[in-house]
Amino acid sequence: NHVQAAEKTYTIDTDVTFPPFVYANTQNKYVGIDIELLKAIAKEEGFKVNIRPVGFNAAVQSVTAGQADGMIAGMSITEERKQKFDFSDPYYSAGIVMAVKEGSGIKSLSELKGKRVAVKTGTAGADYANSIKDKYGFEVVTFDDSDSVYNDVINGNSAACFEDSAVMSYAIKNGLGLKVVTKPTNTTEVGFAVKKGENQELLKMFNEGLAKLKANGQYEKIIKKYTSGTA
Ligand code: GLN
Repeated sequence: NHVQAAEKTYTIDTDVTFPPFVYANTQNKYVGIDIELLKAIAKEEGFKVNIRPVGFNAAVQSVTAGQADGMIAGMSITEERKQKFDFSDPYYSAGIVMAVKEGSGIKSLSELKGKRVAVKTGTAGADYANSIKDKYGFEVVTFDDSDSVYNDVINGNSAACFEDSAVMSYAIKNGLGLKVVTKPTNTTEVGFAVKKGENQELLKMFNEGLAKLKANGQYEKIIKKYTSGTA
């Protein structure tokens, strides 16, 4: 019975700049699909959250080290990660696209020979870059947050970056000077994660809450709010 029991607080780590999933708004408050879903689920299920925007790779490290109870950061559900994490039911999907500076003539992977490609440490985009860098002859440079990845392309240091499709589209729609030149690839589902075998009650509550939000229309509302281009 959640009504009378003191509400437990869970520490949930997340990324820093990853709109529309998670980002600081103009009032410096963390918002986005992930933050709103998590807060609505916590309210529905009767638990509290302490959200720490530490960065994607830092979140991966802290959850696997047992220093955070879970993470939500537009995180791709992959077979490799399932060795270390238990994932919730999916709440979105993500595919990787290649983006270049607006006005750049580069249109494909084969034009990256001898150039640099920027990615974020520990992400699916970074894995993808590393898996094809020898074939296409490019060098991979890593950064801890997506803003730094985009800046490296804008300032001409890197010829391209690999980023989640929804995230890239959102940033470009909101004025970022990049353009997407490939179709999404390596598409996976996205979920909330806990350390494998740990915090199973939290995972269960997340899934129950998510199902309720899907049934009562709140899920749809949150997704629409952040994907309609008006957020
Ligand atoms: N979806 C990508 C992944 O899980 C990127 C996540 C992120 O950068 N926050 O690797």
